[in-house]
Order: sequence, then structure tokens, then C-alpha cells
Amino acid sequence: MLPAYITHPDCLKHTMGAQHPECPERLGAIHDMLLIKGVLDFMAPFDAPLATERQLAQAHSSLYIHTLAALSPQDGAVQVDPDTSMNQYSYQAALRAAGAAVLATDLVLTKGAASAFCNVRPPGHHAEYGAAGGFCFFNNVAVGIRHALNVHGLQRVALVDFDVHHGNGSEDILHGDERVLMCSIFEDKLYPFCGNHARGPNMVNVALPARSGGELLRQAVTGRWLPALERFRPQLIFVSAGFDGHRDDDMGNLALVEADYAWITRQIVDVAQRHCQGRIISCLEGGYELSSLARSAAAHVRVLLGIDH
Ligand SMILES: [Zn+2]
Repeated sequence: MLPAYITHPDCLKHTMGAQHPECPERLGAIHDMLLIKGVLDFMAPFDAPLATERQLAQAHSSLYIHTLAALSPQDGAVQVDPDTSMNQYSYQAALRAAGAAVLATDLVLTKGAASAFCNVRPPGHHAEYGAAGGFCFFNNVAVGIRHALNVHGLQRVALVDFDVHHGNGSEDILHGDERVLMCSIFEDKLYPFCGNHARGPNMVNVALPARSGGELLRQAVTGRWLPALERFRPQLIFVSAGFDGHRDDDMGNLALVEADYAWITRQIVDVAQRHCQGRIISCLEGGYELSSLARSAAAHVRVLLGIDH
């Protein structure tokens, strides 16, 4: 089976205001670039299903799930945190984004898809066990990881997160779960202003100083991530794929370029090929400058598919 490409039109209906950087156009920019580059010719498209309450409850408290559902407005907007709001379509979009990670897990573990890319929003890695935040409602990768562990019975799943912001929500949900290894790089002293002190032995957090480029990224991945991943021997790798560390993206102050995203993806693919038959599930997180987002995501997916030479 071809690698899976998972998205849904509902993800375009969630908006947080005309000027908000986490905008529906992000998905279209990535989709168009994958189309132009011919990448979608090598992928099987799927509509993201709605995550069920049972699936969400693997990563979030029932109280939180019910509270968020109750907050969902009939019209207008409801502010969830200073950066995050819901319109009437947001809850449905959040269910699709989490459902994409669940479907990706099923496709990779039972249908023979080597990998999957979920072009979905809202993003997820700032969503904690009991709290939304940072443009995120449900932690898509954490829902997928727990589905792989608790439903499919995997024993070791790795999460790698190269978004410019620390995935505090993923750390909140997954720290202390010995079945999970989370490796992350992020910009130091940037939102959500944590991550320097890992909350558990299964967390490898590397804070990069502002203005870091590809060289420091390579040092962090080679020196910190790869030894931990080799020891862990993952049976499946999830990627929190945020592209807001690009030098053209002013949401952060890192200086990464497309070649850096291709390089880091190559390292992930190499680990996956050594330990888990290449099984990788990548879910979109941040990336707000549309042109560099689209170019970086395309570089990432090309390497994921093995069509970048
Ligand atoms: Zn981010």
C-alpha cells in the first residue's frame, strides 16, 4: 500500500479570526506544493475520520473532553486561551485532526502503509491532558500513540518533535509512560517557556538558542536524539512536524531551511528502517509563513517517501 495522505475539508472551517497565523490557508499551501511537486502521485489519499471519545480519552481527561465539547459555540467565537479560540466548526476540526492520527496508526500497523502524513489542523502538541492552549485542542500525536500502544498492543513508540516550540502538551501526557520515548528540539526561552528540565526519563529535550541554524540542529539530533532512539528501538515513530523554525517564519527565531528539514527527516527514516520497517506517522504542527511552510513540508514528505535523491 502507498504511503497515506490524510486530511479533511472540515479542518479548513476552523478559524480563529482573519489575522490569526494558524489559518486554513496553511493546509492548502502544503497540499498545493505536494501536488505541484508530484508527491501526491505517490500517496494514497484518505479523509480523516472523527476521533471517538474513547480514543481521545487515551490522552485526555473525560472532564476536559466534555468541557471542550460544551464550550463549542453555535455561532461566533469562544476564547479558550489568549491565543486560541473556537468557532462553530472548531470542535469538529479538532476531532478530525485527532482522528487522522488514529487512522494513520491503523493504516501503518494493519494495512501495510509504510508511512503517513496528516495534513490537518488544529495542531496538537500544546494540548495537555486537561487543557487546550497554543492553538491546540486535542493532542493528535498523543492520541495516535496511545492508540498504537493500547489498541494495537505495541510496546515501544517514539515521538520526535522538531517544531520551534516545545511540545509541552505531549510531554504533559506522555512523561512517565515507559512505552514512549519523546525527543524534541525547540527554541530556548520561547513559548511555552518550558522544556529545559525534562519531566521524565523518557523525555529528551534539547533547547536551542535563538538564531540557531542547521549546524546546532545536527549536533542536537546526532548527539542527543539518535543515541536515545537507538537504545529505545521503537516499533513505530510519530513525528510532530512543525516548520515554524524556518528562518522565514517569524513565529520563532531559529534559522532552519528546507535542507535542514530534509536532513532531520532522513535521520528519522534511517532509525525507522533499522528498527520498525520504516513505519513513520507525521502530523502537522506549526509553520505559519505559507511559502516556507509549503516548501519545508514538501521537503519533509519527499524524504519520508524516499523520493528525494
Ligand atoms: Zn510551533
